[in-house]
Amino acid sequence: MRFILVCAMLLIASPLEAAERLNVVASFSILGDFVRNVGGDRVSVTTLVGPDSDVHVYTPAPSDAKRVAAAKLVIVNGLGLEGWLPRLVQSAGSKAKVITASAGIAPLKLGSAADPHAWQSIPNARIYVTDIASALATAAPDDAEFFRAQAKAYLEKLETLDREVRDAVAKIPAERRKVISTHDAFGYFSSEYGIRFIAPLGVSTETEPSARDIAAIIGQIKAARIPAVFLENITDDRLIRRIAAETGARVGGTLISDGLTGEKGPAPTYIDMVRHNIKALTSALDH
Ligand SMILES: [Zn+2]
Repeated sequence: MRFILVCAMLLIASPLEAAERLNVVASFSILGDFVRNVGGDRVSVTTLVGPDSDVHVYTPAPSDAKRVAAAKLVIVNGLGLEGWLPRLVQSAGSKAKVITASAGIAPLKLGSAADPHAWQSIPNARIYVTDIASALATAAPDDAEFFRAQAKAYLEKLETLDREVRDAVAKIPAERRKVISTHDAFGYFSSEYGIRFIAPLGVSTETEPSARDIAAIIGQIKAARIPAVFLENITDDRLIRRIAAETGARVGGTLISDGLTGEKGPAPTYIDMVRHNIKALTSALDH
């Protein structure tokens, strides 16, 4: 009798078998992290775009079609980020429900198109998480209560994170809240938290800038009194030292925008990514 009871308890306590978990595919790592936080061990999450690939121009692999075919839910950002995805879902013959995580946010423009990088505002990330939680609950109603509780706990963490960012920005003198950056991914961050991201004049993000480009950037930094630059595509240390020496601007570290790093990197989770970026920005911008 006692033996049977112990066995029954072990059964209850054992983690869900893979086949019982809700099978979810996320297009890229930030969405994968949100799904994992809400879904816990009740979902099995696969992320299509890996750490070294660019989500904007991803070429799906045959294994991606298999994953999408087996999924019950496919979570995408939308706003034109994953132009490659509709064809993948169709060619995989997938019956998965496609959920657009950005559906509830107010889009900004990037040039003439919608700016897809909405997750860089934490209030937007909270909308993503709330919508992902409802999608999971609809797909697996027996676990709805669990998903709601998980989402509530994670949303509280995001609220704390949002306060951290606002407090950090508040400590930067107002006239210093601007950087030159080759990233075009911080529009939502900028409008939410009030740090301006200014593109370097005439510099392509694809190629190493020439001496003339550097002279233009130096003129721009001086004219607009920009306290820091994040020029990640410049790999030549001499050019970076020249910018710093001639302008007094600080050269900041790496900002992370479109994907998380591996476990050993600085941003294995969304929360780590935001903390990494705000640290890089404040250390370049405060006195
Ligand atoms: Zn991007």
